[in-house]
Amino acid sequence: MNTFESGVYRPPMHSFSLLLRVTENCPWNKCNFCMLYRGCQFKTRPVEDVLKDIDSMAEIKERILSHVLPNGEFDTVSLNKEYFSLKTDKERECYAMVFNWAANGNMEAIFLQDGNTMVLQTEKLIKIVERITQKFPELKIIASYGRADSICRKSVEELKELKDAGLNMIHSGFETCCGETLKVINKGFSVQQELEAGLKLKEAQMTINLFYMPGNGGIDLSDKNAFETAKVMKQINPEFIRIRTFMMKEGSPLYEMNNAGTFRNCTEDGKVRELRSFIDNLEGSTSYVISDHIINLLPYVEGYIDKSREDILNYMDEYFALPVYEKKRFQLARRLYYLDSWKNIDYLTQSQLNNIDFMIKSVNNDYAWEKLILSYASKMI
Ligand code: SF4
Repeated sequence: MNTFESGVYRPPMHSFSLLLRVTENCPWNKCNFCMLYRGCQFKTRPVEDVLKDIDSMAEIKERILSHVLPNGEFDTVSLNKEYFSLKTDKERECYAMVFNWAANGNMEAIFLQDGNTMVLQTEKLIKIVERITQKFPELKIIASYGRADSICRKSVEELKELKDAGLNMIHSGFETCCGETLKVINKGFSVQQELEAGLKLKEAQMTINLFYMPGNGGIDLSDKNAFETAKVMKQINPEFIRIRTFMMKEGSPLYEMNNAGTFRNCTEDGKVRELRSFIDNLEGSTSYVISDHIINLLPYVEGYIDKSREDILNYMDEYFALPVYEKKRFQLARRLYYLDSWKNIDYLTQSQLNNIDFMIKSVNNDYAWEKLILSYASKMI
C-alpha cells in the first residue's frame, strides 16, 4: 500500500483530521518558549512528493470506504482483517489516520503540516490545495498554521486565490499582541504585522484562529499583555481566539532567563488573572474564545464574547473565590489529569485524594508549590 508523510504536531481541533506534511519543522524556530522543532532543520517538501502523498491518501480513503455496509456502518471485521494484513507500521499508521478521519472526524478536515505552511510560495500551495479538493471533495476545512510575517508577505489577492482553491482556515500563534512581550518571547514579528496579517485574512474571508498565551510576558508584563492583546484581537475580531497558557519548559531560553532573573514567571493564579483581564478587555468583540488545550487550568473559558463574556468572568471569579486548600486540590487534580472542575472533587477516588492531600501537606511554601505545579503542567506540552 502506498503511504504518505505526516508530522507530529497539529492544533487540538485537528485530532480527527487528515494530517499531511507539506513542509517540515519551523522556518523560524527561535521562539523563546518553544521546543517543538529545536534541532530540526526546516525544509519544504517537493510539490510532486506532496501530490503523490495526496493520491496515496485518497487510495487509502477508497479502501476504507469500501468497508461501509448498506446501513452506513463500517464492517469492522473486514476492516480489521485489512488493517492486520498491512505489512509495515507506516502503512498501519496511515490507514488508521484515514479511518479515524472517516469514522470519527466526519470526513471534515485536513491540516497541512508542519509549523508554518504559509511560508510556501502561493502557486505551489495552490497546486497542493487543488489536488486535495479534487481527491477529497467532501472536505469542509483545509487548514494550516501561518505565522503573521509569512501571511503579510502574501497579497490579499494571493490569499483570496488560496481561499478560492480551498484553503479556508488559518491557525496563527500570535501568543501576544503586546510589542514588549513579542520581544521577550522572540516571536520574530511585530504587532503591526499581526494586525496586517489578521486584516488580510479577514479580507480574504478565511476562518481565523488566533492563539493567545497568558503569562508569556511574565509578572512584569502581565497587565500590559492582557490589555494590548485584547486591543489588537478586538480590531481583528477573528472567528476564534484559542487559549494556550504559557508554561515554562525546562531547557527553553525563557527557562534560562527565569533562572538568571531576567524573566519572572507568573504563578498559576497570575496567569488565570491575566486571562481574566484579557476576557474583560475583549468587550465589544464577537469572537468565540475557547480553552481547547489541556495546558489551560480552566477548561470552561469558552463562548462568544458578545454573548458569554459575563458568564466566563463569573466562572473565573468562582475559581478565585475558592478557599486556598480547595484551590490547591483542584490545581493539582487538574495537572494530574484527574478532573477538569473543582465542582467534581467528590468524584476523585480516596487514593487520588490521599495522594493530592499528601502532596499539598508536604509542600510548605508558595515557591515550592508553584514548582510542583509547573513540573506536572510542563509535561503536558
Ligand atoms: S513559530 Fe511556532 S513552531 Fe516556530 S518556534 Fe515559534 S512557536 Fe515554535
